[in-house]
Amino acid sequence: MHYEPFLKKVWLSSPTMHGEEMEYVKEAYETNWMSTIGQNINEIERLMCEKIGCRYAVALSCGTSALHLAVKLAGVQRGSAVFCSDLTFAATLNPVVYEGGVPIFIDSEYGTWNMDPTALEKAFGLFPQTKVIVIANLYGTPSKFDEICEIAKRHGATIVEDAAESLGATYKGIQTGKFGRYNAISFNGNKIITGSSGGMLLTDDPASAEKARKWSTQSRENAPWYQHEELGYNYRMSNVIAGVIRGQIPHLEEHICAKKAIYERYRKGFSDLPITMNPYDASCMEPNFWLSCMLIDRDAMCSQIRSDKKATYVKEKGKTCPTEILEKLASYNAEGRPIWKPMHMQPIYRDHAFVKVSEDVGADIFARGLCLPSDNKMTPQEQDIVIEIVKSCFE
Ligand SMILES: *Cc1c(COP(=O)(O)O)cnc(C)c1O
Repeated sequence: MHYEPFLKKVWLSSPTMHGEEMEYVKEAYETNWMSTIGQNINEIERLMCEKIGCRYAVALSCGTSALHLAVKLAGVQRGSAVFCSDLTFAATLNPVVYEGGVPIFIDSEYGTWNMDPTALEKAFGLFPQTKVIVIANLYGTPSKFDEICEIAKRHGATIVEDAAESLGATYKGIQTGKFGRYNAISFNGNKIITGSSGGMLLTDDPASAEKARKWSTQSRENAPWYQHEELGYNYRMSNVIAGVIRGQIPHLEEHICAKKAIYERYRKGFSDLPITMNPYDASCMEPNFWLSCMLIDRDAMCSQIRSDKKATYVKEKGKTCPTEILEKLASYNAEGRPIWKPMHMQPIYRDHAFVKVSEDVGADIFARGLCLPSDNKMTPQEQDIVIEIVKSCFE
């Protein structure tokens, strides 16, 4: 490799600001709406309902708090078994545990890397009392919702959709964040649009939206003093944060276009390598392409050993592994990331039930896959160098 390391770091996915954000923040400041009430909050709730096609949106401090309230609304209690995506970020299902519920992990399928409907059906055979499913759309790719929703309906289970990574993605023309009875989105700093932090609960049910609003603001009753009948949380979004998000919303589609161009450039750049990109079913879904990921063909994998906290590999001619590629990218000042380590492999969740069809798909994607630098401020020239760096690992 004859390239110098990037002078300016090439990020996995960093915030992209446009200017309007500052105007709305300034307006909040100058009008002194510096709390958890204000026009920015009202406006982004309205805009998100419009975009996603849901009736109610409740702006919250983060996606995790939205998932927490969603899980509570879905009725998860101490001892409740809950079917959860296995290959995802822990924040998808930690809220189940906040409520004393017991996650049962459902393996992924190779077509989208999301929850496998066949494994879900099998899980209902094994744990027929289960009434809640928490499903994430990984890296911006929608899940197989026709199959998932049909299974959930047949077993009388409530879906909580974690659309934190997939804002703007569609399945059969319907926005993600619309498939659950309760849905969560996130405006964390590395998501497709950001408020630096923030999240939202989305639902079509008026009573649930009202409850979430009340719970998120310390569960005050309508009384002259602080009267409490239910447990409360301080989960409401700040009107300042909402100002940043309000300035970002008009740029969502433009961010998706930039992310898609990055994905396509990788796909073309890798066409003669033993690599596939994170897959989706183009006949029914349009991802938001939040992160571009790659999967190394089995026969192009060198030996890679991962303990709980360390990774090593044995270099072989013509072969590589995620560890080598990630180390090489880092040495060039470019940021990649391993695939989410499956929940059933995490020390905290190792003793939980895990339902798979045959092969452990999540473990395989974790072993052979990685997230590539996917920042929408990366130039095509920079991306071509990233492609060359990856290529060089196969020498
Ligand atoms: C980011 C993320 C969350 C959590 O969102 P925060 O706003 O950071 O709390 C939840 N689930 C998934 C899949 C995420 O990627």
